[in-house]
Amino acid sequence: MKEFTNRLALHAEWVLCFFLLLGGVLAAAAGIRYILRRRQKKKSVKGRAEWLYTFLSDNPFQTYIFLRGADAFPFFVSENVEQVFGLTKSEMDTDVFALARCMKPEEAHKLERQYRNWNRREPMAAEFSFVNPQNERRGEASLWVQYRKKEDVYVLVLEDISSRKKEEETLRQELAAAKEENEAKTEFLSEMSHEIRTPMNGILGLLELAKMEIADQGTVLAYLEKTQNLSRFLLHLINDVLDLTRIENGKVQLAQEEFDLIDMAHELQSMFAKSIAEKNLHFELHVEGFTARRVVGDAMRLSQVIINFLSNAVKFTETGGSVTLTFRQMERIEERLRLMIRVRDTGKGIEPEFLGHIFRPFEQESSMIARKYGGSGLGMAIADNIVRLMGGQIVIDSEVGKGSDFIVFLSLPVAKEEEKTGENRQQKKAEIRTGTGEELLRYVRGAHVLLAEDNDINARIILAILEKAGAKIDRAVTGRQAVEMFACSEEGEYDVILMDIQMPEMDGWEATRRIRSMEREDAALLPVYALSANSYVEDRRRSLEAGMNGHIAKPIDFEELKQKMGAAIRDRRTAWNAVQKQRKEDRQRNARSRSMENA
Ligand code: ADP
Repeated sequence: MKEFTNRLALHAEWVLCFFLLLGGVLAAAAGIRYILRRRQKKKSVKGRAEWLYTFLSDNPFQTYIFLRGADAFPFFVSENVEQVFGLTKSEMDTDVFALARCMKPEEAHKLERQYRNWNRREPMAAEFSFVNPQNERRGEASLWVQYRKKEDVYVLVLEDISSRKKEEETLRQELAAAKEENEAKTEFLSEMSHEIRTPMNGILGLLELAKMEIADQGTVLAYLEKTQNLSRFLLHLINDVLDLTRIENGKVQLAQEEFDLIDMAHELQSMFAKSIAEKNLHFELHVEGFTARRVVGDAMRLSQVIINFLSNAVKFTETGGSVTLTFRQMERIEERLRLMIRVRDTGKGIEPEFLGHIFRPFEQESSMIARKYGGSGLGMAIADNIVRLMGGQIVIDSEVGKGSDFIVFLSLPVAKEEEKTGENRQQKKAEIRTGTGEELLRYVRGAHVLLAEDNDINARIILAILEKAGAKIDRAVTGRQAVEMFACSEEGEYDVILMDIQMPEMDGWEATRRIRSMEREDAALLPVYALSANSYVEDRRRSLEAGMNGHIAKPIDFEELKQKMGAAIRDRRTAWNAVQKQRKEDRQRNARSRSMENA
């Protein structure tokens, strides 16, 4: 039993020894493994840190600075600090506050204050502007700072945000401009609504009064006349508003056509002859220094500007005062004329404060202006837009009580062919215009008119008024019908055609083109006038291009229509008589030569 116990003890010793040995081997293996792992880890941390440093250094967008917490010593600074902020790496390596050198002192102080008050728990963010001392480049930068307590390190990330800021600024400006434009539009609409409602209110009120006083003819007539005046004002206002809106929306394209500047000056003079005489004003036209008179540009739009100046000059100058229109060639450079067109008056003048916003829509010097002189304050806004579209400039000089000077400076190319017959045409035009109103109305009496109008109400009004004036009228309801009626008529049967523009089947422009192209002698001589609800300069131009003699806007001013018709009929009759005479002479000559041949 003892032996058995001894053997067992020996066995146990061996087993214990074995386990001890095994434990030792395993512990050694684990130790070696641990050491190996640590080595590997150390190696990979070192590798990662190197990679990270390289990445941070090479990052072109951000500049990184790592500071030791204890003494703010920068133990890492990205290379690009020099390129962006113009501070050398060695400067920054020793003193991080060198950064303040590229900032304005007040910005550096602000940043310093923010840094001092920073709680160090959350990151600190700031933006500042800088000037690179090496190349003077100005820019904007962002700064982000974080304190890592465990490592006792400050991490600073700086970024050049100049281009982003620029983009933001552009967007901000665009937004502000869009807002401003929107506000201006709203204001324009509300002013327009007010401007339209005021005369509308007058018109409706006067009609109500006329109905109440229907038995008293004199009173009713007075109310109707006032209504007519207000309606005309309203129409003028609507035309101006629409015109300005079209110009401002870029819907207006300037024509590039040849025209004679001196003809234009004379036409403007005759246009205002009546109102100047009525007000007993002294008028002078100066045409100075021209070496060429034909230029390329938009004659109608330029006239529109000068007409506005002239009508204001006449309106704001008291009886006995004077108005001067000057057309001057200032310079001729490489086949371009530098022009000065000036309207000067000795009228009431303009307060200097108002001159600053005279070009704004609906602006008048005071509320007294509208009461005393009328108008809506849109003319100057339109003129300014047109002249700027032409690349020119309007300059105004005015003194209260002495008068005003409105000058357009403009440069226009000289036309390829300088026309020699300008004066002849001027004379011709002057002839057409001469003749008193009464005299011209005589030609309407007995005239045979072809009216092309699809709208029954409009046609009825025109028929009633022209028949009352003694004209005989045939009506067509489409452009095509008008062409057919003219084709079937005797030569010289019609004295004038009044042509609506928008009609079914064929518009008035096309109908006129077809009539003009017919091979009969009266096709070219017959006066054709457009009657159209479209009254923009561009519509007038299209009418002239289609071969029409003029463009009368609806609502029709019947006095103007009758005068124009009278003058046109008279000229057509003269021309037609000349054609007839020539034909008769030709016939006689032919008969004579035939009888001589026979003899
Ligand atoms: P409207 O003549 O319809 O009022 P405009 O835009 O042509 O509009 O002119 C704006 C304002 O400028 C006028 O109301 C007036 O106060 C001032 N103005 C323009 N021309 C003259 C002028 N020749 N003399 C004095 N004031 C003028």
